[in-house]
Amino acid sequence: MKLRSIAGSDLKDTGDFLGSLGIDMRHSRRLLYWVYRKGIKSFGEINDIPAAVLHILSANAVPGLSAPIASEVSSDGSVRYLFSTADGQSHETVWLPDGKRSTVCVSVQSGCRMGCRFCATGRNGWGGDLSAGEIVNQVISIPHEVTHVVMMGMGEPGDNIDEAIRACRILTAEWGLAKGRSRVTVSTVGVTPSVKRLLEETECNITLSLHSPFPEERSEVIPAEKRWPFMETLDLLREYDNRRKRRFTVAYVMINGKNDSGRHLEELKHLFAGTGIRVNLLPYHPFEGDDLQSSGEDVMIKFKHELVISGIGASVRKSRGSDINAACGMLAANRRGRIVETDKIQD
Ligand code: SF4
Repeated sequence: MKLRSIAGSDLKDTGDFLGSLGIDMRHSRRLLYWVYRKGIKSFGEINDIPAAVLHILSANAVPGLSAPIASEVSSDGSVRYLFSTADGQSHETVWLPDGKRSTVCVSVQSGCRMGCRFCATGRNGWGGDLSAGEIVNQVISIPHEVTHVVMMGMGEPGDNIDEAIRACRILTAEWGLAKGRSRVTVSTVGVTPSVKRLLEETECNITLSLHSPFPEERSEVIPAEKRWPFMETLDLLREYDNRRKRRFTVAYVMINGKNDSGRHLEELKHLFAGTGIRVNLLPYHPFEGDDLQSSGEDVMIKFKHELVISGIGASVRKSRGSDINAACGMLAANRRGRIVETDKIQD
């Protein structure tokens, strides 16, 4: 008999499950507290639920959390963790300390199907979706306090949207990890129907990967542009009633001579002025054998300056963990047992 995983369950699922075992549903909150806040690996660690209840639970369920199987520390203090699912798929997680802020960048899939041209994850193929329990496990089972969570690791949240939304709820709910809604960010290439659901069903922040403001250039790098044009997704954000001030951001990885011209800058201003959407400018990390280079710092600062004086919130983000291939823009895992490079976008 396959044991049920409690990690990934919400309050109602848990209550229904306990009820089906003849257990008082009022134990649900304590059980979720021990799983989501205490990170237990065995029900035997629980000390405030009756032993008879734990005995029934142990025969029918598991907490569903698992520790990383490998880690690597960067010279800048960030740490890359490797996890493996019960069915042997691997995925990576990056922890990024920054003063009082401590961010974890989680994966939502093992690999990715989007095939973005400059992403190692996409090149490494797709191994399967992660469940909500496997997504939140990456926050719970690393040995650090976490203040912020970004879904910017391996995989496209829009391609695993049911589990990504469920994970957002667990991360923010008071019966879950109780992270503030402004501390959870979902990064997507802009799968339009999924972004619509994120807007309707969660209160998390949203980051869209742009690369180029011109559709024909963007589709060369992000094939998803052909199916879900960026402009359609952008319209959803523009039309959203943002009284609650969710943070919407565009990630723009800058490549020398490709997307850093005056023409690109003017189009960025045109698209984002007056929208309240921020633009994060990120350096590009070349692949091995790749002759493209990141734009220089001077160009990135000029872009930022011009955007800011046009009334657009903008920042230049540094990459972290590049010496351990955990840098901004490309996590590429290790589904086949080797840690490969990643260059994912970091908020
Ligand atoms: S950038 Fe994101 S969506 Fe594109 S291939 Fe990489 S992981 Fe997938």
